[in-house]
Amino acid sequence: MIKVKGFEHQKVAILGLGRTGNSAALALTAGNAHVFAWDDNSLSRKDAEDQGISVVDLATLHWDQISALLLSPGIAASHPYAVLANKAGVPIICDIELLAQTQLEANFIGITGTNGKSTTTWLIAHLLRTVKRQIEVGGNIGKAALNLNSLGKDGTYVLELSSYQLERIFTPFLKTSLLLNITPDHLERHGDMAGYVKAKQRIFSLQKGPKNVIISIDDEECLNLYRVLLNEESYAIIPFSVKARVPKGIYVLNGMLMDNRENTDEEVLDLKTFHNLPGDHNWQNIAAAYAAVMLEGLSKDQFIEGLRTFKNLPHRLEEVTVIDDVHFINDSKATNSDAAAKALSCYEKNIFWILGGRAKDNGLNGLDQYFSRIKKAFLVGEAEERFSKILEGKVSYLQCHELSRAVQEAYYEAISYAERPAYVLLSPACASWDQFKDFEHRGEVFKELVSKLPQERKIS
Ligand code: ADP
Repeated sequence: MIKVKGFEHQKVAILGLGRTGNSAALALTAGNAHVFAWDDNSLSRKDAEDQGISVVDLATLHWDQISALLLSPGIAASHPYAVLANKAGVPIICDIELLAQTQLEANFIGITGTNGKSTTTWLIAHLLRTVKRQIEVGGNIGKAALNLNSLGKDGTYVLELSSYQLERIFTPFLKTSLLLNITPDHLERHGDMAGYVKAKQRIFSLQKGPKNVIISIDDEECLNLYRVLLNEESYAIIPFSVKARVPKGIYVLNGMLMDNRENTDEEVLDLKTFHNLPGDHNWQNIAAAYAAVMLEGLSKDQFIEGLRTFKNLPHRLEEVTVIDDVHFINDSKATNSDAAAKALSCYEKNIFWILGGRAKDNGLNGLDQYFSRIKKAFLVGEAEERFSKILEGKVSYLQCHELSRAVQEAYYEAISYAERPAYVLLSPACASWDQFKDFEHRGEVFKELVSKLPQERKIS
């Protein structure tokens, strides 16, 4: 755990006692701050109290005496206690801000984007670890920021940063920032696309030192931000693309990873030979990670060696099992249509697609081009009615309500279908919260259900 510096004998309020709130409460207390913590959920309050955290209803605070409100990423600024803080001019921060303030000497790499953050963060961490660098990985993934180890000037924090977190960090701390892509997501929280882009763009204002920026130029929003940055001299920018050749950047062409940072084309690696990160969306992640580790001084051989031994995180195109050449794929992390599109693009045909949950505003936008690959869709959750209208007349579908039924039905249909290989793909294009705790829970339930299926073909 990290002892937070800079808040000694000051009063700090914490709202939200989950993973980040609890660790922040303990880390602040260890740094001699006075903590007042609250969660609307009584079980979370009890759990925090059991850990020795002082739980106080924040309505009773004298807000003019509070130095900061640490708000959990999942809680919107419209929460009544956040409104109280705002009225009193109390800064609203997240745990990464405390990490940044406390570990200012360390090297920080921050990764953001709509999709691919976790994969890229994990990959960069793995590549640095394989050359024995002292690193800690966390943020929006794995351990909460203040549960990481203290590193000092010789270490590197590799942090996944969500738009929610970026809005609540203020200290310039990143040596390198990485923006993978921007497509519509979380619009209910950010108001509109402009609000979402603005939150992502904040990553560049959080830089110091060489201000390295690794930025995709493959979507319109990223391209616009790239053009804006070009006009600001203080940034050292590496553009990257998986769609076209990029002078003075990194790109992937026909699966070949190319490095043109020095203005001459150098082949790095044929990514088509790597099956542990399938699909051209993963080429985007690999290209970005390559740029990041080059900045950290790795050689191309070290990068290639590290990539060879990389194992992706669960719930991202994770092959759970193969029964009679029917592949069961857990892509529960695909919580929006863009991520589901990437999954559908990986399998040319014979897809038995399980989707649904709590739909995003843009529903199944952009997925029509893959409908011909789908043999049948199995719908679950709140989005069922809405999605069935979209699929009507285009893709044969079944309303299953529950994941358990969807898995059963998809199994029988896929196993009795004549062509192989076939794919039972859970790639929901939806958030999970209507029926599950989170996407991990959904993915685990899927894996559990799949493990109970007859592991040999029993249907004649
Ligand atoms: P994040 O942390 O940004 O949510 P993940 O690496 O966990 O990203 O991947 C989330 C989902 O998005 C997965 O379903 C994955 O298949 C898909 N995905 C991964 N990388 C990309 C990318 N670069 N562009 C679009 N989709 C991606």
